[in-house]
Amino acid sequence: MDYESFFKQKLQDIKTEGRYRIFADLERCAKDFPYAYYYNEGDPRRVIVWCANDYLAMGQHEKVLNAMRGAIDRVGAGAGGTRNISGTNHYHVLLEKEIADLHDKESALIFSSGYVSNEASISALATHLPECVIFSDAHNHASIIQGIRNSRTPKEIFQHNNPTHLKELLSRYPRERAKLIIFESVYSMDGDIAPIEAFCDLAEEYKALTFIDEVHAVGMYGHKGGGIAQRDKQDHRLSIIEGTLGKAFGVVGGYIASSSYLVDFVRSFASGFIFTTSMPPAVAAASLASIQHLKMSQVERQRHQERVQKVKKRLTQAGIPFMPTSSHIIPILVRNAHQCKLASDQLLKEHNIYVQPINYPTVPRGTERLRITPSPVHTDQMIDDLIDALKSVWDNLYIEYAA
Ligand SMILES: *Cc1c(COP(=O)(O)O)cnc(C)c1O
Repeated sequence: MDYESFFKQKLQDIKTEGRYRIFADLERCAKDFPYAYYYNEGDPRRVIVWCANDYLAMGQHEKVLNAMRGAIDRVGAGAGGTRNISGTNHYHVLLEKEIADLHDKESALIFSSGYVSNEASISALATHLPECVIFSDAHNHASIIQGIRNSRTPKEIFQHNNPTHLKELLSRYPRERAKLIIFESVYSMDGDIAPIEAFCDLAEEYKALTFIDEVHAVGMYGHKGGGIAQRDKQDHRLSIIEGTLGKAFGVVGGYIASSSYLVDFVRSFASGFIFTTSMPPAVAAASLASIQHLKMSQVERQRHQERVQKVKKRLTQAGIPFMPTSSHIIPILVRNAHQCKLASDQLLKEHNIYVQPINYPTVPRGTERLRITPSPVHTDQMIDDLIDALKSVWDNLYIEYAA
């Protein structure tokens, strides 16, 4: 086989479709987020980032940076091993206690990333629970799907955010059979929110475990940043809450919070937790500082929501079509992969605004979009400039305005 031409052809196919991924080579400005330097065209150019998942700008927060520096000075760069073999640092232990408290759960466990926390926990639970059946929301993240696949457990996919369909599927199985219901709270591409209470009601009725991915909600919702389940006072009803340290908390890493026995089980059986070097202690220290800050401070959450409302209002006034969401994620619809890429290029080249185009397979074909994520540090002036730039791009490329 001619391997090289195989790879080349596969790449050519996605290029022809307009969905070949080009990474923006950025240098974020620590004292000056949302500004970053953009390197792709030789000389670096200062641009405004409008699509970061560092939703609250905690990745640039003084307390977080100081915690990271302090930990490096105390304990060095790497952890030095897996958790079991010399790689458990005191910062990991403190962080796990803090996360358990954040979600009012007995215990918590940290992983290299949110992706790994989903994949490793779900596959460990589903593999070992006897005759388990998984009920998974149709829009669940790739990391969840991978965890389910790895477990080779029978699964039922319920229609997105649809308790009626979930109930119908649950009712086909005997009550004694082990069941795991998996869904997200805020969906990252559409910005919509799960009916958590209805799902918990069903889980109680059919005696199922519940696993919620709160990756796009932790830090941002709830009185101490515990997520949507905390905001809606459902957190005590969920068996497992999964989150990331890489989005609103501004660092990197993932976790689950649950009962002591369940967490101890995952700690003892999940391959993706056991057989890998633990996260750098400085990363744990920075995450700890970020969580602790956001537990007490409401300023970032309030300002974040206010900025989001402002951007939505201005988009409506300008007639730029976006999906109406009740979260902080604003998907602006372009509906065509090539145009989406061109719109993003024009925003960058002519307006110094960086918004990555989102194409298939991340979203279905025909729903290509620019996903805007306002943060507390986006100013009124930046919002005005964004709206003007979008209008100019919409006119230039003859993209459809809202009806
Ligand atoms: C980003 C994301 C993850 C993975 O989290 P990382 O910490 O970035 O690995 C998991 N689930 C969802 C829904 C996500 O969007």
